[in-house]
Amino acid sequence: MSNQVFGAVNWTDDAFGSEKRVNSKDLFLRLDEGQNIVRLVTQPFQYLVHKVKKDPNNSKDFGQKVKCSAIHGKCAICETNDKAKPRWLLGVISRKGNVSSYKILDISFAVFSQIRKYAKNLQYFGDPTKYDLNIEVDKNGGATGYYSVQALTKEPLSATDQVIKDSVDLEDLKRRATPFTVEQVQTQLERIYGPEGLPSKTTVASVNMSTEDDELEKSFPNYEETVTA
Ligand SMILES: [Zn+2]
Repeated sequence: MSNQVFGAVNWTDDAFGSEKRVNSKDLFLRLDEGQNIVRLVTQPFQYLVHKVKKDPNNSKDFGQKVKCSAIHGKCAICETNDKAKPRWLLGVISRKGNVSSYKILDISFAVFSQIRKYAKNLQYFGDPTKYDLNIEVDKNGGATGYYSVQALTKEPLSATDQVIKDSVDLEDLKRRATPFTVEQVQTQLERIYGPEGLPSKTTVASVNMSTEDDELEKSFPNYEETVTA
């Protein structure tokens, strides 16, 4: 399987255009209310990201993520005094509907810190790729109970799991976690705000990176602020 559009290809590759492209949106795991069983199959890929909102007064606008370019010496969003927040991309096998499929999970510190607790508990848990995790979402759970992560029994990967794990595209995760260049930030800002780019410093409103899922943000808007305070 290849998405290559030029150069040497294999006879067995799907012909250009005939392959059904995986929608990037479908590649990301959306956490549902209740239980979400996953098996981590990669290391966490950390990235720094801003969330900007075109209209700060529009409560239906949950903001858009723009990766920080500060590592390149300049970031137009940092210049508005918005602080980029770390997030992590994890390659996981999702057990949704008893079907195992590869997904990318995009997590904030709230979930990351709970998985890390298991990882650091070497006596009983250790390496979090050795057992399934239940990431439970409780919309009414309040600041400390919105996400709770539970380690399940240690079990080896099934043959199907192993096939999924072996075909994980680590380069894809690496690329997704790579900081934007100064120009890429500008392009994103122009896409969000129009050709003028970022308006003035005073009107830029960043919103909280509250939850994994923009829809959930609606029901519990100030989560991150509460935990990190
Ligand atoms: Zn920045």
